[in-house]
Parts: sequence; structure tokens; C-alpha cells
Amino acid sequence: MQGKIGLEEHFALRETLGDSLPFVPPQFADELEARLLDIQDMRLKLMDKHGMEMMLLSFNAPAVQAIADVKKADEMARRANDYLAEEVAKRPDRFQGLAALPLQDPDLAIRELQRCVKDLGFKGSLVNGFSNAGDMETCLYYDLPQYLPFWAECEKLDVPFYLHPRNPIDSWAQIYKGAEWLLGPTWAFGQETAVHSLRLMGSGLFDKHPKLKIVIGHMGEGLPFSMWRVDNRNLWVNSKKHKGEKSIGYYFQNNFWITTSGNFRTQALINTMLEVGADRILFSTDWPFENIDHACDWFDAATIGEEDRRKIGRTNASKLFKLGLD
Ligand code: MN
Repeated sequence: MQGKIGLEEHFALRETLGDSLPFVPPQFADELEARLLDIQDMRLKLMDKHGMEMMLLSFNAPAVQAIADVKKADEMARRANDYLAEEVAKRPDRFQGLAALPLQDPDLAIRELQRCVKDLGFKGSLVNGFSNAGDMETCLYYDLPQYLPFWAECEKLDVPFYLHPRNPIDSWAQIYKGAEWLLGPTWAFGQETAVHSLRLMGSGLFDKHPKLKIVIGHMGEGLPFSMWRVDNRNLWVNSKKHKGEKSIGYYFQNNFWITTSGNFRTQALINTMLEVGADRILFSTDWPFENIDHACDWFDAATIGEEDRRKIGRTNASKLFKLGLD
């Protein structure tokens, strides 16, 4: 399929390369570094070759979220966003931006989101899970009450928020001790992001801000497969029922969108289509951690209808992020 749009597509600054290198074997470090620093050359050639018209670019992980010094986190986010705006300006027909945000401090995050959307023309934000604030042991999840003004601003600006994975901090990751192969994209990323998403859904956030648009990657981080069970079991455990007025499945189907990033499996795609419908699923590759050809070759040949392929590959993204592409 020509004209595909990808939403979970990363870049790095030199000073944040070290955040990404642990996620590939040492022999791939040079290749990953070259991919993360490149925007206009190798990336664009691969997009041309495999029918990707546009990438919405985002800063690598965990980067800003793992800078406990709030002022430094803010500076890093601003630097990344300024660099991204310059790169997007070179080829706005091929690249658009998602903002990195210093969510260590909701007020700073609001200010940076406003700057990115209003001044830099970014289409939304992408945040790498919880934020470390003050020290590395303090992990802030965004269902905490101090984030309500931030969510109000996201809703007001009407821009999607992409919740991207990161690893749990060591002291919260005891379940992975002795089985470190489970960390990162193999398992821990999905678990971490799924729980964070459920926390948001169960906090009542979407009753207060019903127009919020949250995007999660990796075919929904396992959530589509578990949604029925979550609601079925939570219904009768009244003493521990979540705080939302509606079911978790309702919020999942009304406030969440799902991308195919890094999960190129037709069986999983079809399950997700059955749970949330083709209108809420969007193509993505997760470049440079996944290959553009792997993502595109799989998606172009996946056994789904052509109308759905066009929605997932292109038109859903254009609508959700207001890209103005048919
Ligand atoms: Mn990613």
C-alpha cells in the first residue's frame, strides 16, 4: 500500500543515544545510532521504498521521563522539540512532530505542550511512561490528581497523547530478577504501559475529560486480549471497583487508539479489530528498533479488507492527528 503514515517513529539527540542502546545487542549499536540520528537521508529512502508517505516523529525513550532533575528534563524536552521542529520544517510533507514533555511537573508540561502545538505546529505529544521527579525512586503516573490540569489542556488543544513504554525502575522490577530477558520490549514494556493505561481508565479521568485521545502502541500492549476479563472480574469485586463511571472497555473503545508498532502479527491485528474496530487502529513501525520493510511488508500483505487497510494504514491517522491527507 502506498501513502502509509507511521506514528511511533523515533529519533535521538547525541546526548540521549545511551537511553536506546541497551535495547539492542552490542553488535547493532552503530547501526542503531546511525538510524536514530538520521532523519532526512536513510529514513526517507526507506519510506519511499516501502510506501510510507509520512512519519510523525518522536524523541527516544526514556530520555526526558528519566531525568529526575525537573529543570534539566524541561531543558531536554525543549531542545528535542526545537530540533524536531527544524527537521520537520525541511520536509513537512513527509514529517510531522509529536512533542516530548517534562511531565515531572504538570505546569511545565502544559507550557511545553502549548508551545509545541501553537508555535511549532506539532500534532500531539508522545511521552515515555511514568516520570522520575526529584529522584529516580519517585515514579509519577498520570492518573494522579495533580495531572488533571494537564489532561484538561490536552483536551482543550484537542491533540492526541501517545503513551509510549519504558522499563520499570529496578526497585519496582523484582518480578524480573533473574529473568532480565523479560525486560524491555520482550515483556516489561507492554506490562508497564498496559497497567499505566488501566490506571488512567480506572481513575475517572475520562469521565472528567471525555474527549481525551490516548494512543498506545504494540497492538495495544496486550489490552485487547484481556479487556473482557478485566471488566468481567472487576464488576463484582465492589470493594475494589475502579473509580470510572463506565466500564474499562467503554473507555478503551472511546478514548484509546492502538498502533501496530513493533507487533507485526495478523492474528493479533484481527483480534484488535474485533475488540475496537478498524477505525481505532493505526499503522506504525517503531523505527529504528524495528525495520520499516518488516512492518510494511507484513501490513501490505495482511489478510484484511482493502478498506480497512486504507483506514489503518493512512486515513485514521490523518483524521486523528488532523494531517489533512485524504
Ligand atoms: Mn517505540
